[in-house]
Amino acid sequence: MDLDVDGVHQAVSTGAVPGPTHTDTVLARAFERATGHREGAVADYIPALAEADADAFGLCIADVEGGLHELGDTRTAFSIQSISKVFVFALLCDTIGHERVLDVVGANNTGLAFNSVVAIELNDGHPMNPMVNAGALATTALVPGSTTEDRWTTIHEGLSRFAGRPLEVDDEVYRSESATNHRNRAIAQLLESYGRIECDPAAVVDVYTRQCALRVDARDLAVMGATLADGGVNPVTGERVVSAEVCRDSLAVLAGSGLYERSGEWLFEIGLPGKSGVSGGLVTVAPGKVGIGAFAPPLDTAGNSVRGQIATAYLSRALGLNVFASDPHVEEKKGRP
Ligand code: GLU
Repeated sequence: MDLDVDGVHQAVSTGAVPGPTHTDTVLARAFERATGHREGAVADYIPALAEADADAFGLCIADVEGGLHELGDTRTAFSIQSISKVFVFALLCDTIGHERVLDVVGANNTGLAFNSVVAIELNDGHPMNPMVNAGALATTALVPGSTTEDRWTTIHEGLSRFAGRPLEVDDEVYRSESATNHRNRAIAQLLESYGRIECDPAAVVDVYTRQCALRVDARDLAVMGATLADGGVNPVTGERVVSAEVCRDSLAVLAGSGLYERSGEWLFEIGLPGKSGVSGGLVTVAPGKVGIGAFAPPLDTAGNSVRGQIATAYLSRALGLNVFASDPHVEEKKGRP
């Protein structure tokens, strides 16, 4: 996909984001650059998602000081979908430790589609990473709780703490996906046959489907991302949600597998961990600096928001967020010997 960054100057990280006025100016430019892009198609494999407004576009930056910069439809609600995988993974690592999670779920890219059954078979029943459906189902199955409702409460309350407000399930999306998620049910049963899921696979799919149907907006995604950028403390509420180590580990997983089969290209162009979802949401994290939340439903063929990617690519370059970008001349200008 063309991320439309030709000619955009690659600013280099200075350890902090520029001041609020400059951030607002850059946000407006990113919005303007992306808004005319009409490529892509709204997901329709979950019937309720097909009703999304293809013109909706919201962009929000939340910084680690708790400052918010918003433009467009940042208060339009949509179901979080795959982006929930990141935050459930982080909550679980925080509860049972990342060694156990890595052992059962893994952290390597599968190179195959997010809902691939072949990937499980090719890897002897190992889910490979928490951002594909197999790994996300295995992650949800590991969440401690003696009943399905206990597990759901842990996930629901945990994701709400990341957002800094109580999130609600979009009932229509939940029912629509529950009626059509035969593939996820097959994946959960296959994982059970390999001994990777120890509780009832149907109940695991149900909790996973509910977590994917939680309603968020672009501002929520930015704050959730900023919580990972801020070592696990929600910069708006001041509440610690997970540990700093868990943020580090979760962002490493995202860098490798957050944008479906385009994760490598994304890292190459944007240089930041991010996670997209089929409803058009995209969260990107600049560690120690900001979380970026984008919402625009039309997706590229891999399932990533077209306008969300273009706007984020611009922000990464113009704000000097790319974690791989360095330039000795910048230091010389600052008077380094
Ligand atoms: N609930 C969706 C599914 O399992 C999430 C997919 C996504 O956003 O990648 O198919």
